[in-house]
Amino acid sequence: MSLSWISTADRLSSLPQYVFARLDELKANARAQGVDLIDLGMGNPDGAPPAPIIEAAIRALEDSRNHGYPPFEGTANFRRAITDWYGRRYNVELDPDGEALPLLGSKEGLTHLALAYINPGDLILVPSPSYPPHFRGPLIAGAELYPLVLTAENDWLIDLAAIPDDVAQRAKILYFNYPSNPTTAIAPREFFKDIVAFARKYEILLVHDQAYAELAFDGYQPTSLLEIPGAKEIGVEFHTLSKTYNMAGWRVGFVVGNRHVIQGLRTLKTNLDYGIFAALQTAAETALQLPDKYVFDVQERYRGRRDFLIQGLSELGWSIPKPKATMYLWIPCPIGMGSTDFALSMLQQTGVVVTPGNAFGAGGEGYVRISLIAGCDRLGEALERLKQANIRYDTSKVAV
Ligand SMILES: *Cc1c(COP(=O)(O)O)cnc(C)c1O
Repeated sequence: MSLSWISTADRLSSLPQYVFARLDELKANARAQGVDLIDLGMGNPDGAPPAPIIEAAIRALEDSRNHGYPPFEGTANFRRAITDWYGRRYNVELDPDGEALPLLGSKEGLTHLALAYINPGDLILVPSPSYPPHFRGPLIAGAELYPLVLTAENDWLIDLAAIPDDVAQRAKILYFNYPSNPTTAIAPREFFKDIVAFARKYEILLVHDQAYAELAFDGYQPTSLLEIPGAKEIGVEFHTLSKTYNMAGWRVGFVVGNRHVIQGLRTLKTNLDYGIFAALQTAAETALQLPDKYVFDVQERYRGRRDFLIQGLSELGWSIPKPKATMYLWIPCPIGMGSTDFALSMLQQTGVVVTPGNAFGAGGEGYVRISLIAGCDRLGEALERLKQANIRYDTSKVAV
């Protein structure tokens, strides 16, 4: 007896294939053929969390009080650590009882927010390209998506003036993310003011994903949505410990901002999960309280890799401006070549895995994303293989 005849719900069949899953398949094939892959495809940080976080987790594991179901809304201490961090970092005051909610990673929260607030047919504004959960969550909820196409000419910023008035009138939620995965773009504070004014005018919920709040370089400090006066009335902001503290597998994130919106998400989650293992919430408090030097070390590691790879790529013909934040490079495909073809030919010819830009939506076509998740020795090896395979950015090849 088998259930092979059973079909999945429509909400699943409406989803485009998860490109990372397809990439995994191709990687598995290459590995089976004995290829030594250099995987710069995923946004999965390498390395361990800082030692004080591990030590705090071990102590918390040994405390018998930490092993039951945690409170639905997260532990009071972790919520307090979140709002204290916000106060220190941004000088923004938040109420730990209602304006901060721990999440099983921000991906979980971003997607569940869509389920908590989107009815089938609701119009949702999502940049293209964007981090996949920003459009896949709404798609699962049955949303009609209006893509905000980003371009290099506009520095990958959302062009608010290009959104037609009737679209803005109908729109319910706008997702956005600066510093941006995948484009590495940052947004000036003026942009944040403009988007808050836009959302207030059209009564749109702003959902800002600030996963790269701390992965910034050269003195740049990313802006929090909640630093903008009036933002809390129309917005929420998602954060994660995955990137800053190398804790991607721990599944710890949080959302802060509008109390009413957070309450809706919490109500949904009460029906789905019990939140983060209390021992991990204790360790996460330690992470948010670490002295700056730990975050500085992480920043320096990515900055060193960024500079190394940009230098090497420039010798192969790519001139890429240095991103001020994130753990990626966003590089144009050689002229005349699509994202998928470029990523696949790179994989086949060199064993170097990058992510095709169209995995992040049609607006990412013509680009690939490289994650800075390997040391300079491996990045050097990747550059050497590109050179050997003569994979260059060569505009002279293009007939005019
Ligand atoms: C990596 C990343 C996240 C992190 O998600 P978690 O579920 O917290 O690990 C969220 N948003 C963006 C834009 C990311 O790049």
